[in-house]
Amino acid sequence: MDYLPIFLDLRARRCLIVGGGEVAARKTDLLLQAGADVHAVAPRLASAMQSLLDEGRIAYREGVFRESDLDGAQLVIAATDDRDVNARVAALADARGLPVNVVDDPALCRFIMPAIVDRSPVVAAISTGGVSPVLARLIRGRLEALIPAAFGRLAALAGEYRDRVKNRIVDANERRKFWERVLTGPTAELIYAGRDADARASLDAALDSGGKAGAQTGEVYLVGAGPGDPDMLTFRALRLMQQADVVVHDRLVSQRVLDLTRRDAERIYAGKERASHTLSQETINALLVRLAREGKRVLRLKGGDPFIFGRGGEEIETLADEGIPFQVVPGITAASGCAAYAGIPLTHRDHAHSCVFVTGHLKDGTVTLDWQSLVQPYQTIVIYMGLIGLPIICRELIGHGMPPDTPAALVEHGTTEKQRVFTATLEKLSETVAQAEVRAPTLIIIGGVVTLRDKLEWFESAAERAAGLDPHFLADASD
Ligand code: SAH
Repeated sequence: MDYLPIFLDLRARRCLIVGGGEVAARKTDLLLQAGADVHAVAPRLASAMQSLLDEGRIAYREGVFRESDLDGAQLVIAATDDRDVNARVAALADARGLPVNVVDDPALCRFIMPAIVDRSPVVAAISTGGVSPVLARLIRGRLEALIPAAFGRLAALAGEYRDRVKNRIVDANERRKFWERVLTGPTAELIYAGRDADARASLDAALDSGGKAGAQTGEVYLVGAGPGDPDMLTFRALRLMQQADVVVHDRLVSQRVLDLTRRDAERIYAGKERASHTLSQETINALLVRLAREGKRVLRLKGGDPFIFGRGGEEIETLADEGIPFQVVPGITAASGCAAYAGIPLTHRDHAHSCVFVTGHLKDGTVTLDWQSLVQPYQTIVIYMGLIGLPIICRELIGHGMPPDTPAALVEHGTTEKQRVFTATLEKLSETVAQAEVRAPTLIIIGGVVTLRDKLEWFESAAERAAGLDPHFLADASD
């Protein structure tokens, strides 16, 4: 280890900043957040430092650095753009045994400043030992995504209850388990939802029942996993995925998304393949109830958005009937994901002022939809589950007055590396699709907006460029 990570208490401690520019201002800002008494010295101040001075938040001596500026300081930062000045500050501070940081010059530093994720009182600090600040920032970005914004409030609550819990639950092992349950269970979720008073009540109740409450009933997270690309998960989805004890997932949830669930979580595959539903809807509903009753945190992971053709409503209706706590996390629905990745805006001032989502699945060998209401000018139609019914859908739409040359597209495996997009006129689409070996899931988009793809397509060509292939050389799947 090249550097020892420590956290300094700088409240009301005098810290010296040498320099008055933007960089000095950024460091000053951090010192002020830690409650330090900041003294700056510089021949002049740029606007950010000047504002701090005007607000009375820093002390300032106008002039070039001299050794006496170090008097009384407990920490020093050199942030001038003059390397000689910085080196002199560093040498003199070091001679006095003062910790000194020289911005962007690790060789002159006695301490370096990490990238931080601030969820005070929780603070995570990341350092690459000055080797790659950009890498540190990238790691920071990941942590920012993983640590909910409300984590600070959760930590503050834990701090507030610490002594009470200690007195109430004497056994250290029991106490640890209690805190684990509180910090990953419903109390934490209430804090994240901004319901601090309810969180307190839940913690009080858990304590009153001797630390046992919260252990009995689990919770169900109905989470939308998006259309396939894990990058499209929400922060909340990811957090709950890494917390759940059991994962009940559909066929549509991609392996790459599943890989992000907790490694040791139990996984239950719930279907559903067309015509061979692995588990019936009733069985799934009952399964969720049973698992939650066993005290488990159950992740019900669904492709896309759980409330769009996902039967999410039915599943939580059962949970509500049974009094099982649950929460719903929206996901990017196939329509949004496929449209974006195919370069087809769903609405557009020149082409579509409304957009309807329908399912095109077969019932008794045919597709029953309100065709008349679908055949409207300036409207985009998005059809889920329409691959098998595609010939019927196109025929019916034309039969109900939609122009046969209406632009149409079918997106296969949208947003994934396997994405293919087929475009044709409404009249020709099913023939075009029949010629390629197309596999579910696919999404159909019909309307003038499809023409925009010629100009707005970006995803497949980016993949081709990345693979070093000439996009014009490849047969275009959309022809
Ligand atoms: N709740 C899901 C939809 C479930 S219905 C959502 O909001 O997206 C299943 C249908 O979704 C599939 O038949 C297909 O029409 C569509 N679908 C889901 N993921 C898709 C993908 N990656 N590419 C194309 N279509 C997709």
